[in-house]
Amino acid sequence: MKGKTRRGANRWRAPKLRPCPECSSAVPSHIACPSCGYYKDRQVLSVDNF
Ligand SMILES: [Zn+2]
Repeated sequence: MKGKTRRGANRWRAPKLRPCPECSSAVPSHIACPSCGYYKDRQVLSVDNF
């Protein structure tokens, strides 16, 4: 056995915040906006507080 390969530490990257095109709040990329539920010009989350 030659030692463990621990790749788990480098796997996760910090998400970059991008302004939401709908509500212009900073949301992590590749994640639907939690405020308005929009992701890539589509509403993918159902948000009630509209
Ligand atoms: Zn939004």
